Amino acid sequence: MVAGRPDPGPDAPLSVPVVASASYAAGGDRGYGRYGNPTWEALEQAVGELDGGQAVAFASGMAAVTATLAAVLGPVPADLPVVAPRHGYHTALRLVERLGRPVHRVDVADTAAVVAALPGAGLLWLESPTNPMLEVADVPAVLAAARSHGVPSVVDATVATPLLLRPLEHGADVVVHAATKYLAGHSDVLLGVAVAADTGLTDDLRGQRADHGAVPGPFEAWLALRGLRTLPVRLDRAQASAAELARRLTRHPAVTRVRYPGLPDDPGHAVAARTMDGFGALVSVEVVGGACAADAVAETTRLWVHATSLGGVESLLERRRRWAAERPTVPESLLRLSVGLEHVEDLWDDLDAALTAATGATRP
Ligand SMILES: *Cc1c(COP(=O)(O)O)cnc(C)c1O
Repeated sequence: MVAGRPDPGPDAPLSVPVVASASYAAGGDRGYGRYGNPTWEALEQAVGELDGGQAVAFASGMAAVTATLAAVLGPVPADLPVVAPRHGYHTALRLVERLGRPVHRVDVADTAAVVAALPGAGLLWLESPTNPMLEVADVPAVLAAARSHGVPSVVDATVATPLLLRPLEHGADVVVHAATKYLAGHSDVLLGVAVAADTGLTDDLRGQRADHGAVPGPFEAWLALRGLRTLPVRLDRAQASAAELARRLTRHPAVTRVRYPGLPDDPGHAVAARTMDGFGALVSVEVVGGACAADAVAETTRLWVHATSLGGVESLLERRRRWAAERPTVPESLLRLSVGLEHVEDLWDDLDAALTAATGATRP
């Protein structure tokens, strides 16, 4: 099997079947539905090939995060601190804060600060670009430093996808993806993947999954694999539209700041250009008029859907601080835009109209 496709042959199907089976006839390696499933294995093979490791699929991105923390921190003494991003996916960082270990929050874009936090640390938990602030870490540099200090490292690469960033190539121990987002790509499934190059770690991750039971459904795994087939074309289109919208938004009178690593004057631009294969399809903007105006924009668009999540075919926007768990250093008026596959002019017209109406600014 290559890329999760069945072996070719006369009348062989082109797509793996959804194998619905809670148990397996005795005598094989799978044994039981919590230990393995042929549909998961096809998805895992495809994602593993993209990231350059062995993938383990979970019921959600958070299930992958939970299992990864347990597997990586298992052998690490309980008093060693975790180095984690100051901004990032808030639910994952809440789990990190609840480990009962000291946590050292750093600006991932400040390479010197990340490296300075590493001596004596028990884990480097990285996210890049960060959600929703789109800060970009110099992943090769900080992972090299983690290795040299003997600190295990994990990268949540959900926002980048393996097409833009492959942290295992730079020495990360584990990469996690909320496959719910770009990999599956159609906002119709929750799924997570953890990928590691070390067989001991992947065995551990599978053991965590089997024991805690956060297993993906076979149909969910099939949907994710089906979505993954079009990831390159979806991402190309979404990125091109994101770049165009970001450029136009910098000139919009209702917008005070645009965060997008593809903009030449974005603080993350140089590092992203050097270390990633693209700038992604998320754009964050701060709008004139604060939280009220930002909420009004989100409620006024007609094509953009006011909803959380990202990475789907439909464009979504939301004000991140509407969530109590979001960091207070994320600006109140910050709207995260997840650019989808609609026509870029339709996206612009809708966004421009909503910004203009909500903030009373004149049209650019
Ligand atoms: C959504 C997300 C997760 C969690 O994934 P779920 O499938 O919702 O559990 C983790 N990390 C990042 C960066 C995310 O955007």
